[in-house]
Amino acid sequence: MAPVIIEDPVAGTVPRHPTVIYYHHVHPSLEHYTSLTPSDFARSLDLLLECLSLCDPNCLWDGGRLCLPAEPSFLVTFDDGYRDVWKYGLPILEARGVRAMFFVTTGLVGTGSCSGDRPKEDYLDWPQCRELVARGHMVGAHGVFHYPLTDVTTSRAAADVRESIAEVESRLERACSFFAYPFGCVPAGRPICPENVWGFGTVKAPLHPWVLHPQCIRRTYLPTGNEGAWPALIAHWRRQWSRR
Ligand SMILES: [Zn+2]
Repeated sequence: MAPVIIEDPVAGTVPRHPTVIYYHHVHPSLEHYTSLTPSDFARSLDLLLECLSLCDPNCLWDGGRLCLPAEPSFLVTFDDGYRDVWKYGLPILEARGVRAMFFVTTGLVGTGSCSGDRPKEDYLDWPQCRELVARGHMVGAHGVFHYPLTDVTTSRAAADVRESIAEVESRLERACSFFAYPFGCVPAGRPICPENVWGFGTVKAPLHPWVLHPQCIRRTYLPTGNEGAWPALIAHWRRQWSRR
């Protein structure tokens, strides 16, 4: 039977698992369903920190082995590797001691607009990615060219995953075992990630225990434009942690 999928951020986490939040942009004026202004981004982290404990990805995957926290917690992730997150988001993260995961589209790393002020076209470069790792964050792969992997053959999708992970590994000179599916599209059927890789979906992913489905980790988000609902949403995620 196909798993039930709840494309609603309310369904945050699997019991006893961290709530994994995904953001795309932190920018003063950009409109996107997971783009927040710097002040809203700071508020989102403060609300999360009030209600949940902070999950450091380095501790969660200690030496590659999953160590689930013993209390309700949250993990911060960013998709696509946009440069605005570096400029606006990183200082806010680091002022709160938050270590995050950044999933970069490898074919777009280092590219940008001529003016440098088109947030949807301006990406982190490799020195910035290396700096993120040096500061304790994690960098994972998000495909080579960011197309939905459900639109191509299984072998093409698997090659995209492999190539983007290999690029991260060679640029950062370290193993990479984290991949986020572009557009949250997790191909059904044969797995496309190498066996040792953890795969992250979005709210399109079903709620599965991670060890049983390590390549289909559900993430959720704090909806832009509905900030008033965040405290109740986060409190709900906390309650989900202890549900049986
Ligand atoms: Zn993406």
